[in-house]
Amino acid sequence: MSDAFDERRRGLEEEYFRRKNNEAIEKLRERIKFAEAAKAAGKSSMSCPRCDGKLKENKVEEVLVDSCEKCGGVWLDSGELEKLTTRESETGWLTRLWMAGD
Ligand SMILES: [Zn+2]
Repeated sequence: MSDAFDERRRGLEEEYFRRKNNEAIEKLRERIKFAEAAKAAGKSSMSCPRCDGKLKENKVEEVLVDSCEKCGGVWLDSGELEKLTTRESETGWLTRLWMAGD
């Protein structure tokens, strides 16, 4: 009887984590979509999607990053983010950049 209970509980846990995973993936997809749209908007007008500031291209660790001179927003596409986070684990430059901004 307790075995049946355990099995049922395990099933509920698996279902819970599966749902949590799907939610996280959906959120990530939305964020990537937004980043790509922002990037496209920034590219066509060369101005910040958030404010009307000018975007400046910076090459950081071989990755091109668009940053706004006015609000300081940073825009990049999903591929660039991937490259940066990979490099971040090696060098920690992203952490240093954020610390320097304070
Ligand atoms: Zn801006």
